[in-house]
Amino acid sequence: MSPYRIATIDGDGIGPEVCQSAARILSEACGSALLDFVRCDGGAAHYARTGQVLPDDTFALCRDSAAILHGAAGLPGVTYPDGTEVGNDLHLQLRFRLDLYANVRPVRLWQGVKSPLAGWQAGQIDYVIVRENTEGLYASRGGGINLRGEVATDTIVVTRKGVERVARFSFGLSRKRQGAPRDGKRRVTVCDKANILRSYAFFRAVCEEVAREHEDVEIDYAYADAMTVHLVKRPDFYDVIVAENMFGDIISDLGAATIGGMGLSPSAELGEHHGLFQGAHGSAPDIAGQNLASPLATILSGTLMLHWLSERHGDERLAVAARRIETAVGEVLAHGDAVPRDLGGTASCTEVTEAVLRRMARALD
Ligand code: ATP
Repeated sequence: MSPYRIATIDGDGIGPEVCQSAARILSEACGSALLDFVRCDGGAAHYARTGQVLPDDTFALCRDSAAILHGAAGLPGVTYPDGTEVGNDLHLQLRFRLDLYANVRPVRLWQGVKSPLAGWQAGQIDYVIVRENTEGLYASRGGGINLRGEVATDTIVVTRKGVERVARFSFGLSRKRQGAPRDGKRRVTVCDKANILRSYAFFRAVCEEVAREHEDVEIDYAYADAMTVHLVKRPDFYDVIVAENMFGDIISDLGAATIGGMGLSPSAELGEHHGLFQGAHGSAPDIAGQNLASPLATILSGTLMLHWLSERHGDERLAVAARRIETAVGEVLAHGDAVPRDLGGTASCTEVTEAVLRRMARALD
């Protein structure tokens, strides 16, 4: 039996193509004896058929596996009676039920990819957004009030425990990195609106307390509105950014846009005992089933999974495999072997996958 069982939820739209591409590459890099991908149901189409977006047996498999790999979920028009999207509920349920409190979103400009920001080169944009994933404004999910169709409210939730753990995670992450590209300084930037709301002032104060345990890492602050300017004008200043749930959601899409888009942006959602890995993009129904999607975000999410498993289990083989995939992706992008459509090329999902596999094979020769 393979030591690491990976619960694999393809989902909807482009989910199956990108998820199976990533599983193929991860299997190749690790060998089939190391990873066991077990496919399970879930998503908006599954809900339309059965009334369940996350079936009980899928949840149990996710809970009891070493990690979860997910494509994407969501279909236009498949909504709950309150108007919210069914697809999003798949990972939201996993997030809340498995307590995946740190949503890690690396923003890195790869060689060969042109940033829409003029003049920035590979290596100059390289930071990580850590989005608090289990509370903030989205903790109100399903709990807000719509009164008589006249008044609607949602409440932000910020707890000491929630902020402490995501702040500790962020400072710990900065310690493992090389610092900001601009000056090599290890830095955690707290993104909030502490000037307006008490909940954000509390978020900031707790981060400040945690910073005192990490004096080798600089603490820095930015209001969320100013942050949208900074990420465009001086992205090289950032190392790790920690943000409340909704702000993290918003600024990570902005960050992704600066390095080539959502098709190149991986994501890891981590808790103490579980990890869920998926590209930062949605199910892209406009291009689904046509072999047009870029699998790179999901492949890179797979490498985050291997690094996480490697660290958790002290298994260096997984980290070696992750680096092999990252090198191959880097070469495909740098040499333009197969440029996906969202990066201005014409390569299909299959062609990008094959190109990464070819580079991996060449490295072994
Ligand atoms: P969600 O709300 O679920 O995050 P979304 O509505 O923001 O999803 P996406 O599904 O991410 O949107 O798609 C936004 C646009 O980006 C679409 O035009 C889609 O075709 C494109 N896109 C998203 N992911 C990819 C990908 N992996 N490869 C190519 N194009 C993509």
